[in-house]
Amino acid sequence: MAVFDDYLSLVRRMSGLEFLPQAPEGWAELAKVLRARSKNQEHAGRIVSRFLEPGAPARCPTPGELAMMAKSVAVDPRLDRPELAPACEECAPFGGTHHYARNGVERCVCARGRTLRALDAARAGGVV
Ligand SMILES: [Zn+2]
Repeated sequence: MAVFDDYLSLVRRMSGLEFLPQAPEGWAELAKVLRARSKNQEHAGRIVSRFLEPGAPARCPTPGELAMMAKSVAVDPRLDRPELAPACEECAPFGGTHHYARNGVERCVCARGRTLRALDAARAGGVV
């Protein structure tokens, strides 16, 4: 079980950004939000990483922005920005998402389609 200091260490990874909290209480607030909005420490780490990626604004998020980001990062790392195989001949005309099947249009049977199908199932099951 992760303790509060672990979350404090995670938010301090953002120390290289601009507009950092000026008071220790500001860092503590970020850690508090991160702990409350993340499923586990690994998830929390991936949430923080989003603010450190190339192209991200070099600005420390507010607690509200951190909470918003937590919502958009999937708990299951496999569902977090999945890498999709290229579209096959059958699903390419549908933008790589569907193909013609006997009963109409559905997820393709190629590697890309199977990944999308798994994501559909995970979302329906509330995993994401
Ligand atoms: Zn396909």
